[in-house]
Amino acid sequence: MGRRARTLADLAAADLNGTGVLVRVDFNVPLDEGGEVTDATRVDATLPTVRALAEAGARILLVSHLGRPDGQRDPAASLAPVARVLSERLGAPVSFLEAPPGSTGLTSAARNVAAGDVALLENIRFHPGETRNDPELAGALADLAEVFVGDAFGVAHRAHASNVGAARAIREKGGPVVVGRLMEKELRFLREALKAPERPFVAVLGGAKISGKIELIEAILPQTDAVLVGGAMANTFFKALGLEVGRSLIEPERVEMARELLDRAGERLVLPVDAIVAEALEPEASARSADRDAVGPNDRIGDIGPATRALFDRQIRAAGTVLWNGPMGVFEMPPFAEGTFAVARSIAEATGRGALTVVGGGDSAAAAEAAGVADRMSHISTGGGASLDLMAGKALPGVDVLDTVDGDDE
Ligand code: ADP
Ligand code: MG
Repeated sequence: MGRRARTLADLAAADLNGTGVLVRVDFNVPLDEGGEVTDATRVDATLPTVRALAEAGARILLVSHLGRPDGQRDPAASLAPVARVLSERLGAPVSFLEAPPGSTGLTSAARNVAAGDVALLENIRFHPGETRNDPELAGALADLAEVFVGDAFGVAHRAHASNVGAARAIREKGGPVVVGRLMEKELRFLREALKAPERPFVAVLGGAKISGKIELIEAILPQTDAVLVGGAMANTFFKALGLEVGRSLIEPERVEMARELLDRAGERLVLPVDAIVAEALEPEASARSADRDAVGPNDRIGDIGPATRALFDRQIRAAGTVLWNGPMGVFEMPPFAEGTFAVARSIAEATGRGALTVVGGGDSAAAAEAAGVADRMSHISTGGGASLDLMAGKALPGVDVLDTVDGDDE
């Protein structure tokens, strides 16, 4: 028997009833100009944890970041609108606690949260100590509660004060440090996909940059039966093959690395055979499809072409497991969206045929949504960077900090 993260279900009812519970959530949601929440997916994803704690009679203190206010108070990055959305979703009041950690104002406000009630702290990244994992900030947060729940998968790849420092500080005073429902689900799907994948195991990788994902390709190649590469990432591989890429986005300093990877991967690395090209990557661009050896010196590659869509579709259809990260093109613009949407549909159909399909990455999740197939994926991860690090076999500080118990992950 191995070890698994200690869960909320592992705690006795008495551990939670009337107890202060600090929950690190990921409420890093998009806001519009008026400061209203435009997509509450991340709030909704946290509801199972919040409801379970409320039913257990916990005094719930939620802490999150929003955006990158760089250690300074920034009204445009306030979590106040998120507290309102959360309150609507729960059908219960949510107190919004603006006083900073370490202040008597916050300490007494936190003490006044009744059993079963919910409070949300102001954006923790207003404090410079958050991203530095400052022990003083971590200690001030830990002073507010007796139990820690880690539910912010989106920051699990970072060691910050609110997801790692505070968890350690609560453990040091003898409190349990457990995984929340959302993070538990994220880990279950991603690990299941990687541990004993139903074959063929196909990874679909795209997006703008090869650099952040090169480790992922390297880590995943030995485990997969095929890695389908699209997006601007493919351009760097084209360059490595000596093909003309015109004025496409490439990463010159990664060409050598791409060449080595091609040598090592052999046929398992599947590159596009054609592309959608235009003189400019603009919403109104007049685009055409071109074989990959017919890209002109003034062209920019904006998407995979129709022959590649068909090629990728065949591979995805036959798959038992699919991991998708990164759009196949500039899907935000109609002339370059079809490759990404076609891949999203192929993956949705694979799910329908019984494949386990997992989507990681914010833009890929948005693309699945825009293609109208988000609800036909086995799992869409709320954590872009964290899901990539997990897939690449890297340690996740926000997961490693959790208590473990005897047992297996599933
Ligand atoms: P994710 O958020 O799913 O991890 P990334 O952030 O890595 O994905 O990449 C998404 C971005 O990649 C999108 O904004 C998309 O426009 C861009 N992109 C994809 N293909 C190309 C391309 N051929 N040229 C330029 N940008 C591209
Ligand atoms: Mg992105």
